[in-house]
Amino acid sequence: MPDNGRKPETVALTIDGREVVVPKGTSLLQAAAGAGIEVPHYCYHPGLSAPAQCRVCLVEVEGAPKLQPSCVTVAQDGQVVRTDSDEALEMRKGVFEFYLVNHPLDCPICDMSGECKLQDYVFAEGREHGRAHEPKRVFGRDDFGGDVLYYGDRCVMCTRCVRFMEEVAGDPRLTVVERGSRAVIDTFFDQGLEGASFAGNVVDICPVGALVSKEFLHKARAWDLDHTPSVCAGCSQGCNVELHTRDNLVQRLKPRENQEVNGHWMCDYGRESYEWINRPGRLESPQAGRGSRRKPTDWRDVLGRLHARLQELRGAEVIVIGSPLWPNEGLAALDALAQAAGQVSRRVFRSPRAQDEDPLPGFPLLIRRRDLAPNVDGAGLLGFDRDGSDVGEGGLDGVAAHDGILLVLGDELRDQSEEFGASAALFVYLGTHDSPAAANADFVLPVTNFAEQEGTFVNAQGRVQRFQQALRPPGTARPAWLVLGALAAALAGNGPPPSRADGAFAALVAAHPAFAGLDYDVLGVAGAPLADAGAATAAAAGQRAP
Ligand code: SF4
Ligand code: SF4
Repeated sequence: MPDNGRKPETVALTIDGREVVVPKGTSLLQAAAGAGIEVPHYCYHPGLSAPAQCRVCLVEVEGAPKLQPSCVTVAQDGQVVRTDSDEALEMRKGVFEFYLVNHPLDCPICDMSGECKLQDYVFAEGREHGRAHEPKRVFGRDDFGGDVLYYGDRCVMCTRCVRFMEEVAGDPRLTVVERGSRAVIDTFFDQGLEGASFAGNVVDICPVGALVSKEFLHKARAWDLDHTPSVCAGCSQGCNVELHTRDNLVQRLKPRENQEVNGHWMCDYGRESYEWINRPGRLESPQAGRGSRRKPTDWRDVLGRLHARLQELRGAEVIVIGSPLWPNEGLAALDALAQAAGQVSRRVFRSPRAQDEDPLPGFPLLIRRRDLAPNVDGAGLLGFDRDGSDVGEGGLDGVAAHDGILLVLGDELRDQSEEFGASAALFVYLGTHDSPAAANADFVLPVTNFAEQEGTFVNAQGRVQRFQQALRPPGTARPAWLVLGALAAALAGNGPPPSRADGAFAALVAAHPAFAGLDYDVLGVAGAPLADAGAATAAAAGQRAP
């Protein structure tokens, strides 16, 4: 143990006059970032190898004969580093000038404008005026296949895209061809990136506007987008993402780093799976009455009438149909209401499923899993059984003839007949869209989708993950936990219902031992494993696809 009392696995150094202590093996670039100092960089990315080729992260290290590339220079005890010395700034200024010799400076029409690292660094450190008078080299635009376009004139040749496809996706489809100022990125064979399951990540990591998404092209300026921490609802892996929204619509998904779940990446299936969140035709106000007798009403009226009807039917047999697209809080409140109302004979859910999974080599946890819904494990832990059928396959045998209470949350029943629920004494349908099979519902209640509320999902690792609200709900739609929690509390007579998502989460923790010990605030935006994630997920394994 060194006599200064520090743990031996750390080193202490000075960066721009600040004392910094970092784990042994940390690069100068990472050490500076940890102290809030951004050293410009293009080729370095924390999820890839570091070739030290872009030369914009050069810094001065006391005692070294020349400037050092900070991305591959390991921090040493007692080192004195200057990222902002005259020599370092002058050298980087020269490197940026070279990058701009052939760059088209088409920022006003570039999709990356506002989040481009060439724009940012040149603005911060570059020359005010270029000195090159020669005509610029012109490559034009290349369709790389899939969702990806390549603008070679904007490329800074950092090779992040090449290395991602090789090192992370295990699918080396990109390479550098030619040399010097003629060098461009190109695809092997005609196939390009078509059919590559993780290609969207190259657009995320390209530091400039050289690789852009066709789907997002000219859709929104970067500075008009709001970013909300969330979870991908594409499958039960639950990759951490940001929802980028504008005009109360989701415009795109971007991966959010979580080394426990998805590293820095996400799959293309998940990236493209947000359109359902924006689907128009939403239910906007509560309705009461079956078929042609159905009338819109308000929440006070509908909850009063529904409460009275539940009291009349108290003790009846209850069948509950949930959905693994719905957060834990809503499913737990659905269960609480069912238990307060009568004898629960079935609690089921159906899940949309893919034919196969799509693993990412080197990231055994990042898989486009078979269950194409984010909360299959949460539903299992909350006592819901998988119905033998998948969404779109019929199933739900015997429910059509049920003559007790039928509660449906989130399953649109599109594959069910118009007779569905006709013989139920009380049929309550909570959803985002109306459905022909809900024609026999006595009450149709508009609820928010996950992007319009905050809450939690449990992923296939048994990790409870929080997401935040990104969109305004339509009309008077409310979170399912708020509506169902109020009814359950009124029926059971057990005190005021939760009025916030953290209260709804606390209520489910109290009622379901698998969630014991979890605290909504402590989950943060990174989530946390269930106390006994292994046992809990084993219990839920029966809920997941084989
Ligand atoms: S296309 Fe983008 S990520 Fe690929 S080498 Fe060029 S600048 Fe780097
Ligand atoms: S693996 Fe699943 S959760 Fe992750 S991005 Fe793909 S679809 Fe979304």
